[in-house]
Amino acid sequence: MPTSAADLLSAAYNDADRTIDLRRRLHRRPEIGLQLPQTQAMVLEAFGDLPVEITTGKTTSSVVGVLRGARPGPTYLLRADMDALQVYEDTGLPFASEVPGAMHACGHDTHVAMLLGAARLLAERRDEIAGQVVFMLQPGEEGLHGARYMLEEGLLDVVPGAPVSGAFAMHTISTMPSGSINVRPGPTMAAADQWRMTVQGRGGHASMPHTAADPVPVAAEIVLALQSMVTRRVDVFDPAVVTVAHIAAGSRDNVIPEIAFLEGTIRTLSAERRTDVVTAVQRVATHIAAAHEMTLVFEHLAGYPVTVNDPGAAAQVLENARELLGEPAALLMPAPMMGAEDFSYVLEQVPGAMAFLGACPPGVEPETAPANHSNLVVFDEEPLPAGVALYAQMALQNLAG
Ligand SMILES: [Zn+2]
Repeated sequence: MPTSAADLLSAAYNDADRTIDLRRRLHRRPEIGLQLPQTQAMVLEAFGDLPVEITTGKTTSSVVGVLRGARPGPTYLLRADMDALQVYEDTGLPFASEVPGAMHACGHDTHVAMLLGAARLLAERRDEIAGQVVFMLQPGEEGLHGARYMLEEGLLDVVPGAPVSGAFAMHTISTMPSGSINVRPGPTMAAADQWRMTVQGRGGHASMPHTAADPVPVAAEIVLALQSMVTRRVDVFDPAVVTVAHIAAGSRDNVIPEIAFLEGTIRTLSAERRTDVVTAVQRVATHIAAAHEMTLVFEHLAGYPVTVNDPGAAAQVLENARELLGEPAALLMPAPMMGAEDFSYVLEQVPGAMAFLGACPPGVEPETAPANHSNLVVFDEEPLPAGVALYAQMALQNLAG
């Protein structure tokens, strides 16, 4: 008989100690970037006694596990990211980071622990599975395109003859009500692009600006023109954010500098808008510089694409959240988040969904809780078994045969 939602949830809660123990061990030893040797070792150890075929990354510390069901069928992917952030932890938790300047401040330790919990539940239920579960454990989610390396190394074809046909990922969020599952169809997280520009002027004496070419007022004009461009050129129903986050020019009060430097971010929710706004930022800035007989060097650093949930997969997540955790826990997100996520690379190739697990700690209001990436962020561990059950349920349902 297939496992009911209630049985799956109670199995996840019965295994909660192991889930939380792994989470805390990871939390003590955070690693940053694409090479996470200690994290990888802990993940391999946790997979140790399970009937899962393991492949490790060639260029990064990624781990791919394949669990084969009792019968043939499609391949479904569950993903967790493993990397930490360059943050000094100030939570005072008993299992706080023991690595100065590194912290699991985005909860990726909770993702790994939940995914391993789901692997244990699924391994016990192989006779209910027609097909394969792929466990994707990626490094370098924090801006280093870890998922892209895994895709290049053949992640989606890890099972010969049965390419990955669906995918699911979860992210814990400290500012959402604990135990809630939050998801939406369509664009869910933004594309993030970085840009840099240098206005090339000509230095001189601050008392005689007409003999120099002052890049400072030109930079100021660019800052304002970019905001006008966004409000006048961008459809409010396909929005964009352009932020100038860093300006640098000059050295003292009586010198006109040679250059002005500006950098910032562009966030968009569709591929079309993304291309359009990147082009517009360059065009507006270049022409303002030209109007003042200066040149401008523009650099665009492409970040992650838009994370787009398949509507069917998002609906399935909501339905499972209701079944597992009750109606109030299943929340349809009213709007996307303007942060970015490199699970977007997977969702560009296979239909699936990314959902957010609320983990606001007890006694704190979600609105005022320190957010993901904060040195003070605390994630409630209570809902982790719910996340384990949801991961497992998504796989069981998509591989029911
Ligand atoms: Zn994250």
